[in-house]
Amino acid sequence: MSRGLRLARVAVAAAAAIACTACSGTRATQPEEDPTKAANGARRSDDRSTAGSDRLGSLRDRVEDIVAATGIDLGAAQNVRPVGSFSDAVGAYRFTPTGGGRVTPDPAWVQAHIVTATVPILGTVTCNRAMVPQLRAALAEIQATGLAGEIHPDEYAGCYYPRYIAGTRRLSNHAFGLALDLNVPGNQRGTVGQMSRAVVAVFKRWGFAWGGDWGYTDPMHFELERVVAPG
Ligand SMILES: [Zn+2]
Repeated sequence: MSRGLRLARVAVAAAAAIACTACSGTRATQPEEDPTKAANGARRSDDRSTAGSDRLGSLRDRVEDIVAATGIDLGAAQNVRPVGSFSDAVGAYRFTPTGGGRVTPDPAWVQAHIVTATVPILGTVTCNRAMVPQLRAALAEIQATGLAGEIHPDEYAGCYYPRYIAGTRRLSNHAFGLALDLNVPGNQRGTVGQMSRAVVAVFKRWGFAWGGDWGYTDPMHFELERVVAPG
């Protein structure tokens, strides 16, 4: 075996429950949401909480288009439920450092975990299999709420990219296919960036953390925090 072979065991706490923040589109007459739910890291976008009936109608039309294109039924599946942990998505990750900050994972790991899939707005992405459903759902919701123009497909810089975090010997979540970089030119590290906060809110609802919240900001970067699924 290669002397450089390493084994990373990812010790990340199992996913905590994510609040159900569903339903504003179909329960417009409900009273205010329990504020304790909003404090659990998952928020609704302003668009959805203030939607009037006309707006809801046009949203439903768009949702139907998306349902046809992606097979995701947002009308019926607006809840987010936890289905696994970050550790489950990574498993035992064996890799060889290959210079320049890059690593080469065990081909069997890549075969088992990395897939190429089609998602709304971005088109084809190559990511961790476990993340695809929630990435697809987040992008479908962004599209359905009229926010697609806030994401620039030509400025998407990828998902699975096996490497260390720049300047460190810690594996990037891109090495696991569990992060993606959006709107790169306007969202460089260490800047506030230009990322739409409504887009950020949808990604958070679907189990992603945003690099724009970090001490040393990385506003182009979203990464899986919890494995969730519609339902
Ligand atoms: Zn990134």
